[in-house]
Amino acid sequence: MHKLTSGRSVRALRLGALCLLLLCVVLATSIGMVLSALYLDLPDRARLGLYGLLTSFCIFLLYKFFAHSAYCPLCRGPVLRGSRAQRNRNAGRTFWSYRLRISRDILLTNTFNCSYCGERTHCVVKPRLREEGAGPKS
Ligand SMILES: [Zn+2]
Repeated sequence: MHKLTSGRSVRALRLGALCLLLLCVVLATSIGMVLSALYLDLPDRARLGLYGLLTSFCIFLLYKFFAHSAYCPLCRGPVLRGSRAQRNRNAGRTFWSYRLRISRDILLTNTFNCSYCGERTHCVVKPRLREEGAGPKS
């Protein structure tokens, strides 16, 4: 099991995963609301749906920001972004998306399988080997 080298990448992975899942939920809900509002002729619900679309756009920007610095510690693959690199043959998908699978794993188990190199990574900061003054072990 591999670990991450900095707290910054741990944060980027966790927040990026959270934003991606939130984005899917909010986007699906707002599109459903707008469509049902058009079908049933409910202007109030249509407005709510449009607010939802705006919100999902903001979440999308946040997701882009975090996913930009979310890398696999081993192969430096951008695990929360698309890439032209070859995916691992054994990489699993959720709803046809590698990124959704990784986000789900990070949020539920705090680990993920890199979809490029297939290695398992634990979302914690790796303790430094040469630290001044041995700290208390936890
Ligand atoms: Zn990797």
